[in-house]
Amino acid sequence: MKISIMTLFPEMCETVLSESIIGRARKAEKVELNCVNIRDFAGNKHNKVDDTSYGGGMGMVMSAAPIYNCFCSLYNANTEEKPHLIYLSPKGKIFNQQKAVELSKKSHIVLLCGHYEGVDQRVIDEIVDEEISIGDFVLTGGELPALTVADAVCRMLPGVLADEVCFTEESHFDGLLEYPQYTKPDEWMGRRVPDVLLSGHHANIEKWRREKAIEETYKRRPDMLNEEKLSKKERQFLEELKRNSVSNE
Ligand code: SAM
Repeated sequence: MKISIMTLFPEMCETVLSESIIGRARKAEKVELNCVNIRDFAGNKHNKVDDTSYGGGMGMVMSAAPIYNCFCSLYNANTEEKPHLIYLSPKGKIFNQQKAVELSKKSHIVLLCGHYEGVDQRVIDEIVDEEISIGDFVLTGGELPALTVADAVCRMLPGVLADEVCFTEESHFDGLLEYPQYTKPDEWMGRRVPDVLLSGHHANIEKWRREKAIEETYKRRPDMLNEEKLSKKERQFLEELKRNSVSNE
């Protein structure tokens, strides 16, 4: 899979994408990532890529032409399918794990980072396929959102993580938050690791983890719990949790 980031700050993106798991995945060619400078497509001698807003106002707006020309440079329109272009925007649909999985199945995604007041609406209407937000707040630029999306998508690709279990058991993958995790030593500051995790009994550990995941989700994100996905025994466990929380109120 290929991920291209269109930005005014390619070094900022490169730095993050060269480190840790994503950096290793790039070296091992599990994913192709490239950061392209929109300014290289300014098409004027001062490399200007923004201008004042029609109708007035303080901020600058990123011009349509450099973004359009930058995007066109990323593929051969005669031989390749148009890449899926995402504009990172606080007006977009909120990003989640399901979207990360969906995007990981595409062959080439392009992430457009805005700056200043944003991007001329006409280039959005002309080439953007969807707008994604990473939350209900406003950042100074689209680089951190683009890196967030790129990271979440990359770790869904085959061979990027050591094992598929690394993400299938994680929070949000199957509609549950993850169970609590512990590492050595088995006692720290008087707090012991739950006995079941030291027992070596795989079936009991599995049951404990599932129940803890249900409990964490019920307590922290009850809106996420889909009871239809639980087994009969797990639904009984949940009912018990609900009864206990009512009696403790
Ligand atoms: N004037 C815009 C508005 O009110 O919707 C905000 C522009 S913001 C200062 C500059 C750029 O940061 C945006 O074009 C977008 O690319 C990025 N950005 C800011 N907040 C974001 C968010 N929550 N999710 C995704 N991108 C965001």
